[in-house]
Amino acid sequence: MSSTPVATSEIFDVVIVGGGPVGAALGALLARLRSRALRVLLLERDVPDLAQPIDARDLRVFALSRASERILRAAGAWSALAAVPGVLTPYERMHVWPRDAEPRSGGSLTFDAAELGEANLGYIVGNAALQRAALAAFIEGGGTVQRAQLDDVCFAEVGLELLTSAGRCMAKLVIGADGGGSRVREIADLGVEAQDYLQLAMVANVQSERPHEHTAWQRFSGEGTLALLPLASGESSIVWSLPRARAEALLASPPHEFASELTTASAGVLGALELASLRRSFPLRRVNASQYTRERCALMGDAAHIVHPLAGQGVNLGLLDAAALAEVLEAATLEGEDLGAMRVLRRYERWRKSDNELMATALDLFNRFLAFGGDEWSRWVERGLGVVGRSALLRRPFAERALGLAGDLPRVARRA
Ligand SMILES: Cc1cc2nc3c(=O)[nH]c(=O)nc-3n(C[C@H](O)[C@H](O)[C@H](O)COP(=O)(O)OP(=O)(O)OC[C@H]3O[C@@H](n4cnc5c(N)ncnc54)[C@H](O)[C@@H]3O)c2cc1C
Repeated sequence: MSSTPVATSEIFDVVIVGGGPVGAALGALLARLRSRALRVLLLERDVPDLAQPIDARDLRVFALSRASERILRAAGAWSALAAVPGVLTPYERMHVWPRDAEPRSGGSLTFDAAELGEANLGYIVGNAALQRAALAAFIEGGGTVQRAQLDDVCFAEVGLELLTSAGRCMAKLVIGADGGGSRVREIADLGVEAQDYLQLAMVANVQSERPHEHTAWQRFSGEGTLALLPLASGESSIVWSLPRARAEALLASPPHEFASELTTASAGVLGALELASLRRSFPLRRVNASQYTRERCALMGDAAHIVHPLAGQGVNLGLLDAAALAEVLEAATLEGEDLGAMRVLRRYERWRKSDNELMATALDLFNRFLAFGGDEWSRWVERGLGVVGRSALLRRPFAERALGLAGDLPRVARRA
């Protein structure tokens, strides 16, 4: 890894700001383009120690879709995750059920990998492991990582000058993969529409009385959403989203009281639950950049869109952004086009923005009508969930979505 300041004279084709899972995956994909023609620099203010072995334990976990698995394979990041036992936990079923239904009843929605002819529905992985595997794949592919914070960008017609805590560098294109509070988005003056859900998502690992059966369990409780994601250790990872005041009271309560409330919220689906880790929480909001691109700049991942985590889609959407952008930049390189030109970047924006907005809106509706509900409309939606759940034909398109295989997919995410 490069740790010395990058000299002013160096000109990069692409500078990625943000080495979270999404920025690092884009770097790794660009480093593996068939043309291998691009000079790529990744700026990350908080680079993890890549010499340390990947750790399976993490409070922040993601449910990766099949599309994300394929993208990470193409990026060269999958083998490092698969090599360490317990880092990837496959899940074979998903049960989604509303407040008044039973998890395996006619009122619930179940996806079963065997029924779909798949080995599993996806994998649970820790945030830190995913970030490290993607950063390592980028470096192996010949990319340069710089531990630095982006401070400012001077936009000019023919290129960019980036001012960072480690020095200056020049580029043709800057990518904002710097998360929800994106500095790139701010500097590029790309506006956002933001909506506070007034909820906190609480995460922790829990031990359950009964085995998790390699199943992702999700209950819409009427006061929020609870997901139990299976871990290789036998524990489950929870994502429990509740109105802020209620969540704060629970976070301040002793572990046994928290666990008792959690068991009630899960409707006892895995028997009694006990805390096996610390608790952490994240404020929830929806953010949507009104434009993803301007001349010489593009946004991706949480810098472009933050969605409600109730269906675990954030990183999956970000990885689709990464694969789409890599494909657009590869085509532009082969055609000898200017990578920072709007006619190139608009292809990426047109491809991904409407898909991301559709998903964000669907999650809003789930949050409004299923997570909270209580009115007549919610009753109809709950009944609709049961109708879909009872019909293999109606379930199929939802299953394709859950696998991340619906819509206009980038080449590396498609079925071979
Ligand atoms: C409770 C919860 C549960 C979730 N569960 C799931 C799930 O199951 N599945 C799923 O797909 N998604 C899930 N998500 C969403 C997921 O966490 C995000 O979508 C994902 O982390 C976004 O990744 P990113 O790389 O875009 O951004 P980030 O992970 O935020 O990375 C941004 C990076 O940029 C760096 N950075 C920021 N500013 C600068 C700067 N100026 N200079 C240099 N570096 C900078 C930061 O240090 C950071 O490393 C969940 C979210 C929450 C809150």
